[in-house]
Amino acid sequence: MLNIVKNEILAPYTTMKIGPAAEFFTIVKNRKDVLEAITWAKANKKKIMILGGGSNTLVTKKIKGLVIKNEIKGLDIVEKNKDYALIEGGSGEIWSKFVNFAVTHDLYGAENLFLIPGTVGAAPVQNIGAYGVELKDIFFHLKAIELKTGAEKIFSLVDCDFSYRSSAFKKELKNQYLILSVTLKLSRTPDWKLDYGSIKENLTLKGIVKPNLKNIIAVIQEIRNSKLPNPATLPNSGSFFQNPIISSIKFKKLLKKYPDIPNWPSGKNEVKLSAGWMIERVGLKGKKFGPLGMYEKQALVLVNYNNASAGQVLNFIKKVKAAVYKEFKITLKEEVNIL
Ligand SMILES: Cc1cc2nc3c(=O)[nH]c(=O)nc-3n(C[C@H](O)[C@H](O)[C@H](O)COP(=O)(O)OP(=O)(O)OC[C@H]3O[C@@H](n4cnc5c(N)ncnc54)[C@H](O)[C@@H]3O)c2cc1C
Repeated sequence: MLNIVKNEILAPYTTMKIGPAAEFFTIVKNRKDVLEAITWAKANKKKIMILGGGSNTLVTKKIKGLVIKNEIKGLDIVEKNKDYALIEGGSGEIWSKFVNFAVTHDLYGAENLFLIPGTVGAAPVQNIGAYGVELKDIFFHLKAIELKTGAEKIFSLVDCDFSYRSSAFKKELKNQYLILSVTLKLSRTPDWKLDYGSIKENLTLKGIVKPNLKNIIAVIQEIRNSKLPNPATLPNSGSFFQNPIISSIKFKKLLKKYPDIPNWPSGKNEVKLSAGWMIERVGLKGKKFGPLGMYEKQALVLVNYNNASAGQVLNFIKKVKAAVYKEFKITLKEEVNIL
């Protein structure tokens, strides 16, 4: 039987290590547990909130209802032919373990996403991305349970409506489904994406001309470790803000004032900017304000250096957003889910 506990403190379940309690809390390990939790929530008229690894979640207040911590495991090759393989990961598996599974089976496409913290089930929610690859590029389908009815549904690529750090599960389907598993379609031959974030330079420095999967994940590990704080020692949630996307017209005006502003084309008549660069430009990179600060090696990462309270984080977020707005007239949007 499912163990549902009362008033469980959530801070240890998030990488920011902040957060009061959940009114009710349980851990699910399989589909049967999920259905039992749904039935309990219905009977007790409680809302459900899902937690994976808590690496993209900031809890600022007591959560009313039932928090389900997902620990559904399982990694499997479900189909394989000469061109590609489909691999399915249980939603509570650690994402990097899933990538490692692909690597050990010589399957290509997921390697640039190695070491993104968190679980397989959360990966589609914000369409995780790194080094020029997004989940949507290797996504096949996902299986999910509707929290209201307990009915199971398969979501295709189109159903998920992926976009930059977003999906249907962050918009119209928010808090409506528990993702049970994610299936990736991976190639049996390499199609490297090496032009982002100094992957190529790092390989060249090592004298690697013809890389293999192990070389790539080793390089990704080195780059990430050199830039990003380890949540185990410096609590954080990775990039705290999204890179803003603005119209080409607005961008042209900005470019006049800031000729060195980093930018990338983003769809039709839009340009993506670097939120980290903007935060650095307003002088907040590496500066500490009480227990909080934007990380000295990556200005987009908000670090909880010393047991900050939820209120302190909320005030600090306001401060960063106000400073960026004052300089650029652009409002940063949080990437992290704030509860
Ligand atoms: C150091 C660091 C580096 C990071 N680098 C990157 C990066 O390079 N690229 C990137 O994209 N992100 C990055 N992140 C953010 C984070 O790792 C990802 O967003 C990750 O997918 C979150 O996984 P999680 O299991 O911890 O999600 P959680 O924080 O537990 O949940 C995130 C959201 O997904 C929902 N959710 C979780 N599981 C399920 C499920 N099974 N079904 C339905 N909804 C669910 C939750 O309700 C919540 O809304 C980084 C974070 C850290 C701390």
